Amino acid sequence: MSAALSLEEAQARLLALAPALAPEACAVEQALGRYLAADLSAARTQPPADLSAMDGYALGGQGPWQRMGESRAGAPFAGSLSTGQCVRISTGAHLPHGADRVLLQEDAHLAGDTISTDQDPAAGSHVRARGFDFREGDRLLVRGTAMTPARIALVLAAGHGQVSVARPARIAILDTGDELASDPAHCAPHQIPASNGGMLAAMLAPLGCEVIRLGPIGDDHAALAAALSQAESADILITSGGASVGDHDLVQDALTRWGAQIAFWRIAIKPGKPMMVATRGAQVVLGLPGNPVSCFVTAFLFALPLVRAAMGAAAPLPRRHALVAGEALPAVGKRREFLRAVLGPDGARLSGSQDSSALASLAAADCLIDRPADSPALPAGSTITGFLLHNG
Ligand code: AMP
Ligand code: MG
Repeated sequence: MSAALSLEEAQARLLALAPALAPEACAVEQALGRYLAADLSAARTQPPADLSAMDGYALGGQGPWQRMGESRAGAPFAGSLSTGQCVRISTGAHLPHGADRVLLQEDAHLAGDTISTDQDPAAGSHVRARGFDFREGDRLLVRGTAMTPARIALVLAAGHGQVSVARPARIAILDTGDELASDPAHCAPHQIPASNGGMLAAMLAPLGCEVIRLGPIGDDHAALAAALSQAESADILITSGGASVGDHDLVQDALTRWGAQIAFWRIAIKPGKPMMVATRGAQVVLGLPGNPVSCFVTAFLFALPLVRAAMGAAAPLPRRHALVAGEALPAVGKRREFLRAVLGPDGARLSGSQDSSALASLAAADCLIDRPADSPALPAGSTITGFLLHNG
């Protein structure tokens, strides 16, 4: 039996296999979670003119000032101001020619159409200068950047209705096991509800890929072969369960008969050791362990990065953060461990049982603490590292 690979080596070998997906045009508002296939430059300047940042009066030269009219957002004042003249101005409105600052409404003294103040603002006050955010031609986002809500706003503001992104990856999900019930509300005593398929589909959903559900399927050669025949069009196939070497672990064998070649398997991590990677032409197969937490952790560390890489992400791996241990942590054995933990004011505390089947502690967790192999026991307050699981 070959030695288990390190996490980093396995991730590097897997990402090198990621299929390259052709780019396509996508409406910016539909691009959430997708990755830019090309650098993106501003098609316009923002703001397009000097604008007021506040409600008040745009002032020309020395006061007191005669009010000449109004500049509203979307309805600029047409004329230009001489010294001693002003216009009423609202947030986002164009500063008229001849004005160089905005007097806040609350600092203005009004006597008919004459405005005066004890607090004449310095030149440039409360003005958003033309182009301070970005200028036409500026490179705003680089290829491989994920589209977030803020970047959708930036790209729209930069004058683009469409972006170029990789086409959505087609991902087939096949969960296996004779004990799995597809309807969780109708589960016989010898069964458990199939939960990995739904979990994997939910993990993939934010990436905007196309998911094909092929399971759950029993531990049966003919049924597995029939399910695999429906994975022809998938860029990536993710299986769960049946990947070990027990009598009822048929997945590797079924994959080999389907024409896949095993690239590597077994990773020196806990949970998640029996993960397997195979290829079939340009298709990549990830065989994840059946235990739900092992399945989650390997999907988080391998399947999501693979899909992100296929969809063009410049940085497909999860981002590591420095964390504080909110309680003492035990020593680690020969296998690197990922611990489910909750983030609180004292730092990260374990969220419950660390058994690889325990979903309640996974559901409670905010992060996975990464504990390297052979780490000594640590006292509370120690600096550790880990991965955040969600932003909510
Ligand atoms: P296996 O990898 O097939 O040996 O499965 C390991 C454990 O994970 C067993 O206890 C299975 O019942 C459980 N398991 C496998 N697949 C699923 C699934 N889709 N949903 C929930 N539990 C599963
Ligand atoms: Mg099984």
